[in-house]
Amino acid sequence: MIDLKSMLPEELEAYVVSLGQPKFRAKQLFAWLTKGVAGFDEMRNLPQSLRERLTAEAEINVLSLLEKQVSQSDGTTKYLWELRDGNAVETVVMRYEYGLSVCISTQVGCRQGCAFCASTIGGLVRDLTAAEMLDEVLYSQMDQGEKISHIVLMGIGEPLDNYENVLRFLRLVNQQEGLNIGMRHIALSTCGLTEQIDRLAQENLQITLALSLHAPDDETRSMLMPANRGRGVAEVTAACERYFKRTGRRVSFEYAMIDGVNDTPLQAQKLSALARKVKAHVNLIPLNHVEERRFSPSTKENLRAFCAILDSEGVNYTIRRSLGGDVDASCGQLRRRREGAKQSGTETQTRVTSKDVKE
Ligand code: SAH
Repeated sequence: MIDLKSMLPEELEAYVVSLGQPKFRAKQLFAWLTKGVAGFDEMRNLPQSLRERLTAEAEINVLSLLEKQVSQSDGTTKYLWELRDGNAVETVVMRYEYGLSVCISTQVGCRQGCAFCASTIGGLVRDLTAAEMLDEVLYSQMDQGEKISHIVLMGIGEPLDNYENVLRFLRLVNQQEGLNIGMRHIALSTCGLTEQIDRLAQENLQITLALSLHAPDDETRSMLMPANRGRGVAEVTAACERYFKRTGRRVSFEYAMIDGVNDTPLQAQKLSALARKVKAHVNLIPLNHVEERRFSPSTKENLRAFCAILDSEGVNYTIRRSLGGDVDASCGQLRRRREGAKQSGTETQTRVTSKDVKE
């Protein structure tokens, strides 16, 4: 089947021309594709012969909803989608003062092997296509009944390990005739693949780069994140500096606070020095507990002491609000639960509890 939804406007144009149609049909088709219609029959301004041809050789919708969880405290919505090949990925929609933000997955599984992360257990299954990522946004928007204004690539997968499709996706959502989401409203998070960070900087996209730093020293970072081995904190943060210089976009450092692992005063000092050097904004994240993992979140006292050092060092930081604490917390967990249920033969149930969201 032809993957129409992954096509950029000029590619769609070449395709319709190859079918003996005038160029303007591509515009009509593109507009329909980002309206989320269920079938080619609904594309009423296209001639019937074209609709029939498309129905026979192209596909439109690449996701179907398996499960939806809505947080009762803050409305955060988590979707589990089934892909055409039976795999599943997650998308989360969060509400902020500035609007709706969607957190999308970029791969089925992940091969980066971070020691605290649920998404990488079981490794990488496959890359998502641009169409699948687009549908994560489009379907979430349709279900919310409200325009999505921001996108973060922080769900399952390593976006820079699926570079071509992710770039294509970014260009697609940015189209004025499409979802029309500005590059400045998009953030991409990476474990720090330096070569691809440099490549991304050259694209001049104005998206925000977030580096999952999680530790300022090589010993701890390499233990937590295999991607650090053979690169090192100095090299990874230097790539962030180059990104900032080239794009003028300030980088953020993601830092999940893990009890006794990366939350010592010395690490707070080292993190401060890095943040100042790169002029990065630090995002402290309360670690989400993952059943299969041995780590726990930092204690309140350690978090407070850590922040006091960042304050005294003049570092720009925020503590990420943990939204949707009553839906299966961090990305990868809903999918993991389904994999487990498939193996044990039990059904997945929509679980919505009223437990309060952690601040
Ligand atoms: N592969 C990309 C994006 C996916 S993960 C990356 O590494 O950045 C999105 C963010 O969630 C990353 O910062 C990741 O390190 C973090 N994360 C993963 N598991 C987590 C957990 N259990 N608790 C808190 N943050 C976690």
